[in-house]
Amino acid sequence: MRILLIEDEARIADFVQRGLESSGYKVDVAGDGKTGLAKLHDLDYDLLILDLMLPDTDGLSILEKVKNRKVSPAVLILSARGGVDDRVRGLETGADDYLVKPFAFVELLARVKALLRRGQTTPEKLAVGDLTMDCIKRRVVRSGEVIDLAPKEFAILEYMMRNRGKALSRTMIVEHVWDMEYDGLTNIVDVYIRHLRSKIDDNFPVKMIQTVRGTGYMLTSPGDDSAGDS
Ligand code: CA
Repeated sequence: MRILLIEDEARIADFVQRGLESSGYKVDVAGDGKTGLAKLHDLDYDLLILDLMLPDTDGLSILEKVKNRKVSPAVLILSARGGVDDRVRGLETGADDYLVKPFAFVELLARVKALLRRGQTTPEKLAVGDLTMDCIKRRVVRSGEVIDLAPKEFAILEYMMRNRGKALSRTMIVEHVWDMEYDGLTNIVDVYIRHLRSKIDDNFPVKMIQTVRGTGYMLTSPGDDSAGDS
């Protein structure tokens, strides 16, 4: 996960960069708009953290340029301007979130995590064996046969495809798909897996969804090592 921070106040830039890097992110810093745009041009970032008041330009004009591109990173605005108008304008211009200075690092980190998690559902095609998933069109096909899935079924299958060959516990599936901890939901995973099996496995000779005794479930295709390679 690569993050670009455009912020002219060195103290804040340093504090944010060090904090995020110690949380495992790679962070580049630009001290003005021109440098920032050059970096955005050179590299694909997953997230842009953008200060609005920069020495050479207004952050909103950078935001406009970024959001006009075909593929753009998620954008978190960081600003001392906390007025409702400024927030609305930032969000209308396409920012994904807005954080007012001064802020606590834990709050920034929570927003960053949420935005990057959202970003993981970005355009992509997945394939495991003869099963393919188009995450943009939300279309699942096995052996040329289109399979209709309900939204939660789709989310579980997507999670399993992204983690092919790995045993996933019911708790992991719940926390990923429902985005929360909720003990009462772990049984529902079994119900959804049953639905998924009836749709993607029952009509095919090769079964892809495996039950991992004592753990949960795993998606495999015949060519995989059981340990998985992703
Ligand atoms: Ca500033």
